[in-house]
Amino acid sequence: MSVDDVTPTPGELVLAPDFSGVCGTDVHVFRQGAMLAGDELPLVLGHEFVGTVVDANGTDVANGTRVAVEPLLPCGTCRQCRHGRPNLCFRWEHLGITRDGCWADYVSVPAERVTRLPDAVSSLDAALAEPLACAVNFVLHRGALSAGESILVLGAGPIGVLCAAVAKGAGAGLIVVSEPLDSRRARAAEAGADLTVDPTADDLPAVVDELTRGLGFDVIVEVTGSPRAIAQAVDLAAPGSRLVLAGLGSGAPVPVDTNAIARKELDIRGGFASRWAMATGLSLLADGRLSTRGLVTSVRDWADAPSAMDDLSNDPETCKILFASHSSSTQGDN
Ligand SMILES: [Zn+2]
Ligand SMILES: [Zn+2]
Repeated sequence: MSVDDVTPTPGELVLAPDFSGVCGTDVHVFRQGAMLAGDELPLVLGHEFVGTVVDANGTDVANGTRVAVEPLLPCGTCRQCRHGRPNLCFRWEHLGITRDGCWADYVSVPAERVTRLPDAVSSLDAALAEPLACAVNFVLHRGALSAGESILVLGAGPIGVLCAAVAKGAGAGLIVVSEPLDSRRARAAEAGADLTVDPTADDLPAVVDELTRGLGFDVIVEVTGSPRAIAQAVDLAAPGSRLVLAGLGSGAPVPVDTNAIARKELDIRGGFASRWAMATGLSLLADGRLSTRGLVTSVRDWADAPSAMDDLSNDPETCKILFASHSSSTQGDN
């Protein structure tokens, strides 16, 4: 593929991806096809990446700049966009879902969706900037976690682990992660959880009671979308606390104790993608307050895409698989 195969419109630049991640959404699009009626197929998959600007196309981001990318592309003019909520845009596009994504040699992206990488952060270390920005949104923006507050994260897939890491980096008090799989609990502990709990073996409500001396957590972030975990989150939530529901499940109705929500005046908030969170995640990385390297279980070649997606869905030990561009794999950590 040559750079001329990509034709940026005015305001867009062309990037050469350095590292791209594989995410559950990619597997879903690959297996099920279009996510939205009317999507143009075929398209290039992939939306989590960092890259280098190879054609500035008249924008003010110079060639050679290393950037992270927010793959959700808002229209910029609808009511949500005008109110500063581009991730809730009524007319969004999305790299790798509704238009060509990053599993390619080159990809065009609107200039306002890129954030320059801090010099101190290698492209490999920033490779998870996109899911990290989502974790910043769930924990700090939607969860409004303050330094010293306690947080319980339900689920330790990549987003759950990143939520624990963000909480640690932001100076949370007690950080607890609930997750049935051993390897995922180990990763959450490495990322900053003070304690991990196996909800299938341990009595989570009793553990919460003991750890918080009956007070409960200031914030709970639920990232699994599992009906059981959501119902448990409502039961466990402390009076007056914040509960962020950021896991997307099957879409089937989930029974929860609505009396508990009323009685405890729970502040239940949704969390979806991110807005204005990319720079925060990158500065946490640059300051050494968190690292995402522990989440990367392998770095592979594009040609491995089908088996990478199989491993992501079938192998519970797999956390984050990255694809390296050919130049990145020969240059190492640049
Ligand atoms: Zn993703
Ligand atoms: Zn919009």
